[in-house]
Amino acid sequence: MWESAGFITGIILGSFAKALADRSLGKNSFWGRSYCPSCKAGLRWYDLFPVFSYLLLKGRCRYCHRKIGIEYLVVEVVMGVLIAFLFTQTFVNFKFEIFNFYSILNFKFLIFIFELILKIFFITVLTALFITDIKKMLIPDRIVIPAIWIGLTSLFALTAYKIGYLYYYLSSNLLGRYLLPPNEYFGRHALIISQPLLYGIGTGFGIAAFFYIIILLTRGKGMGGGDVKLGAFMGLMLGFPNGILALILSFLTGAVFSVMLIIAGKKHFGQVIPFGPFLVAGSLIALFWGNRIIDWYLQIGR
Ligand SMILES: [Zn+2]
Repeated sequence: MWESAGFITGIILGSFAKALADRSLGKNSFWGRSYCPSCKAGLRWYDLFPVFSYLLLKGRCRYCHRKIGIEYLVVEVVMGVLIAFLFTQTFVNFKFEIFNFYSILNFKFLIFIFELILKIFFITVLTALFITDIKKMLIPDRIVIPAIWIGLTSLFALTAYKIGYLYYYLSSNLLGRYLLPPNEYFGRHALIISQPLLYGIGTGFGIAAFFYIIILLTRGKGMGGGDVKLGAFMGLMLGFPNGILALILSFLTGAVFSVMLIIAGKKHFGQVIPFGPFLVAGSLIALFWGNRIIDWYLQIGR
């Protein structure tokens, strides 16, 4: 059941991510109705069902019957699968009791939903940037800069909410009141709660600075300012150590893919391929399996 809910959420957001990518590449407004790129006919609400409209119309425009690119379908299905997977992973130990009226306003439930929405937001932005970088070797400021601000504001709000709740909880508890300042208990725990935010900011700055140095050393061959901003975004959202893991995975998948392309004779050595898609791939692997990979790695080292 969660798979289906996730898949449907995913295909809707996939269609959104595709529109976001196309409109930022075409320098079009993010607002306003979608239209057919060949006959400019405005699309109606019934043309906009992700996947279903495409299959019903057999991949053609309803008005001029020109072929619609298969990439619409691919992006929607891929994001459907990603969000379905996120849902199964998130809801694996989920208890249905959480859906009674009292618990829906409960602290844990709100945190749970908020963190899930943040992950969905992260995947959607990564998908849009994957498309733009593959199509035009571009990571548009119009997507990545607002994404960084939204991510930062959300993490701040989440942290403030958690600390505020701790304060409220302690002050409404007979013994807890003695743990409020000047007792150092509250400050110490507030700091622990702030760690994901602080680590996120630190990792984001770290990755961005690292890319910036690479650009300076290579004089901008193979990496650009867009990668710096995407690096900051992935570091912020994944934190430490998952952000660093994502970076390492990006270099690994990028290297393997480049070697495969050279062997297949599609590219020759030194030819530039966009790095953004590998940053996206590394980020997704770190998001889904980061903790498991790090556990596994640390045990090998023992
Ligand atoms: Zn048309």
